[in-house]
Amino acid sequence: MKFADLHLHTRFSDGTFSPEELVAQAVHHGLAAIALTDHDTVEGCAPTARECEAAGIGFITGTELTAEYDDTEVHVLGYFLDTRNERFLAEITKFQAVRQRRIHEMVARINQLGVPLQVEAVFALANCRSPGRPHVARALVQMGLIKTLDEAFDRYLKKGRPAWVPKARMSGLEAIELIHHAGGLAVMAHPGLNRTDEIIPGLVKAGLDGIECFHTKHSTAMSERYLEIADQYHLLVTGGSDCHGFSKAKPLIGTVKLPYEHVEKMTAVVIARRQAAQAAAKPVS
Ligand code: AMP
Ligand code: ZN
Ligand code: FE
Ligand code: FE
Repeated sequence: MKFADLHLHTRFSDGTFSPEELVAQAVHHGLAAIALTDHDTVEGCAPTARECEAAGIGFITGTELTAEYDDTEVHVLGYFLDTRNERFLAEITKFQAVRQRRIHEMVARINQLGVPLQVEAVFALANCRSPGRPHVARALVQMGLIKTLDEAFDRYLKKGRPAWVPKARMSGLEAIELIHHAGGLAVMAHPGLNRTDEIIPGLVKAGLDGIECFHTKHSTAMSERYLEIADQYHLLVTGGSDCHGFSKAKPLIGTVKLPYEHVEKMTAVVIARRQAAQAAAKPVS
């Protein structure tokens, strides 16, 4: 059997692996294909694609956008995107700026609590355009200001805690439209984490293509439930580990293995869509 992992992060957002390290891990776990889904960026796709090619495994471009629908945060994965699409790049650049401003605000709030974390330390550690809360947590641990990453989230960073700063988000409908504009498939990430299944029909109406049925934080019962929902709404089935390297307690790559037939189904939809778009663009002779 061939397997894939379609939810992975690198140093280009809040993961700790370089593309080289990530692909070495993918090879180690015997994966036939991977997708890179860094938050609000596709910068890591080109180097990861090169590593995959050298290693003889398949690569799918991707990203994970933070969106909202009906006041609920929803993460929308984009796959098979054209990573040079201008409007797509302009839009995600705005969200990267939002992330950078938010780091300043989170650190200011942590400082107000009397914790002397320097914002420069967070940016130096993040060393990417798309920083996030895990970088703040890691900087706190690295500076010896707190013991563990979990403690950083529990004390300061999770929703409702004093340094939690909401992120300006695009709407779920905009996220789907933007991914389609860049030629990609739009997939609802880890629905079991959101526990808001009532938003699924609206997203489907907006053109959602798939749903992440298999995820590290999904129980077997949850995965089965989302497989049924995928069936009901004719959605593609995806899955991945959401590995962040050592940003989480341990690297999760290899813990979720998506049967390769789902990658083939995704590929078929993308090819059919591109052919239809080409046919529509051709002048009738
Ligand atoms: P952000 O995009 O800046 O809001 O950060 C979200 C990231 O933080 C995601 O990758 C989450 O997996 C991670 N995260 C959220 N809560 C926790 C937690 N309690 N411990 C560790 N990582 C977390
Ligand atoms: Zn993340
Ligand atoms: Fe997510
Ligand atoms: Fe993720």
